[in-house]
Amino acid sequence: MGKVFIISAPSGTGKTTVAKKVLSQLPDLVRVITYTTRSPRPGEVDGLDYRFISKEEFEKKIKENYFLEFANVYGNYYGTPKKDIEDILSQGKDALLIIDVQGAFKVKSLMPEAVSIFLLPPSFEELKRRIEGRGYVDKNLEKRLQTAKEEIPCAKYFDYIVINDFLNNAVEKVKAIILSYRVETKRVLNNIEKYLQGSDIVNLVKGGKCYVKET
Ligand code: ADP
Ligand code: 5GP
Repeated sequence: MGKVFIISAPSGTGKTTVAKKVLSQLPDLVRVITYTTRSPRPGEVDGLDYRFISKEEFEKKIKENYFLEFANVYGNYYGTPKKDIEDILSQGKDALLIIDVQGAFKVKSLMPEAVSIFLLPPSFEELKRRIEGRGYVDKNLEKRLQTAKEEIPCAKYFDYIVINDFLNNAVEKVKAIILSYRVETKRVLNNIEKYLQGSDIVNLVKGGKCYVKET
């Protein structure tokens, strides 16, 4: 089974940008495409960035218990589909969730084994610049900055904190976190036949006696 990784941050910090780079560089890491009722921004593609649906469709899915968690962010619904995560994990792949801070807490409480990563902007000035520089007019700029002040103190409850100063630094750190879980002893042992196909090492690792502890 794979693992769930959550990247969260105040809006505008760069979590989508960092996550997209990480996804393009790590095989077997799959983004969970979340649902939203907000309209697509220029360049956003349905099914790639979000699944864009109406408020009515979203509320129907809430009733059907379709979402692992959902939230109302800046007046729109956002929700994480449960089944997509299960499908990714059952294929032995890792799932990446790019969600807001309240969503991260909800997922972590429902799936304590999920790994949560908080991305911090290097400064407020820079956060403002990034929100303004996104190429569309953000009606919620002041609200987003105010929310960021409430979200940043939540960083201490996450498993990891990565500062998104220079993009490649942040990408390398997030990759390192994910890769470290792929070499956890229990995961390697569970997949050892796959990693060491036909090797005589497999039986020794799995069935041999450790001379320090087992003689
Ligand atoms: P979020 O998903 O957290 O809301 P985005 O990924 O949309 O944020 O990034 C917000 C803006 O900041 C984008 O214009 C993006 O290109 C820019 N950005 C992201 N990371 C960096 C970085 N490390 N340095 C400079 N600009 C960045
Ligand atoms: P934006 O409108 O800027 O794309 O997203 C607003 C915020 O909602 C971002 O922090 C984004 O990561 C978050 N978000 C996206 N999908 C989900 C989701 O399924 N659940 C929750 N809780 N937040 C989400």
